[in-house]
Amino acid sequence: MVSISIQHLTKRFGTQAVLDDVSLDVEAGELFFLLGPSGCGKTTLLRHIAGFYQPDSGKLFLGEDDVTRLPAHKRGTGMMFQSYALWPHLNVAQNVAFGLEERGRPQAEIERRVAQALELVKLDGLGPRRISQLSGGQQQRVALARALIVRPRCLLLDEPLSNLDAKLRHEMRSEIRRICKEFGLTGIYVTHDRDEALSMADRMAVMESGRLVQVGTPQQIYRNPANGMVAEFIGETNLIPAIVQNATKEPGVYEVSTSFGALYARANRSDWQPNRGDKVHLSIRPEALGFEAHKDSLNQMPGHIVDVIYLGATAQYEIQLLNGPLVKACEINPTLIRHASDERVALAAWPQDVVMLPSA
Ligand code: ATP
Repeated sequence: MVSISIQHLTKRFGTQAVLDDVSLDVEAGELFFLLGPSGCGKTTLLRHIAGFYQPDSGKLFLGEDDVTRLPAHKRGTGMMFQSYALWPHLNVAQNVAFGLEERGRPQAEIERRVAQALELVKLDGLGPRRISQLSGGQQQRVALARALIVRPRCLLLDEPLSNLDAKLRHEMRSEIRRICKEFGLTGIYVTHDRDEALSMADRMAVMESGRLVQVGTPQQIYRNPANGMVAEFIGETNLIPAIVQNATKEPGVYEVSTSFGALYARANRSDWQPNRGDKVHLSIRPEALGFEAHKDSLNQMPGHIVDVIYLGATAQYEIQLLNGPLVKACEINPTLIRHASDERVALAAWPQDVVMLPSA
């Protein structure tokens, strides 16, 4: 188990700063996710931790050790890739054994540890199989066993599940988390799949253009996104421009004006005190918009339904707000399906679910 400390890491490819003064501390034993749009620098950051890239400036520590200039094979990290990177001419056991062979371990120890690693990833007895005779999910388990057999200080995972179908992906999510926790492994996991991050991460960082925009637990980031990009990246949301009017008696809750009327909204950070007249955005998640508005409901938003998709567990609506934007609302366990019509419906959302974000 080892902590990871990244201090002011900067990396340029040509003139482009792919990592721009990145600082991050990951605790020992934490499963930490790097999340963000394509090209934001997630893989480049992971490769720096692995030792495949050297930074232009900044430092990188594994525990107390400054590993900034240490070659990859001396860092004690295990890596698992999107393309499993298995050798097709070797069988399962030989693939898994590779890291130990390379380290010149005795044959008896290698055999024992290969058997243990295959058991850990639930591939007991499949050692003699050829790689081509395995399913995608099994191949990914071989890749995991190969990364774990060298007893890494930390496990680095680069979109390890993106080649798997949905069912296997779900299965492997809990497997990977179980293994990391069982062994107290510090894990850094790169993905652009928000469900994967929300369901597996202890904490995560959302990146954009080589910078960390926000670091926090899944719940902190989902409930209190730092800006509109994070709000949209981590889940479905309605982003609505608004102008701050007054603070209310409730700490952090403000009255704001929108094109379709006044709303009460909660600031995304407790240390942010916007001023009257400030331009902001409101992030309202579809599941926070309910149809049960009555005359005393706060944050009423009248409109009419323009589209509905019934998905069994949920019904997803598109609603044209009166004098406002088209918004998405999601009803959970819908018993009554509403249809698109010109008939007036009244949506409402609790002030705690109308999250006020600074406008970029
Ligand atoms: P994705 O989710 O698409 O894998 P990412 O967030 O992992 O993206 P990186 O692979 O880290 O992004 O790439 C960040 C930026 O750096 C991209 O603009 C990419 O084109 C560029 N880049 C990555 N590796 C190199 C390289 N070896 N030489 C030049 N540019 C590179």
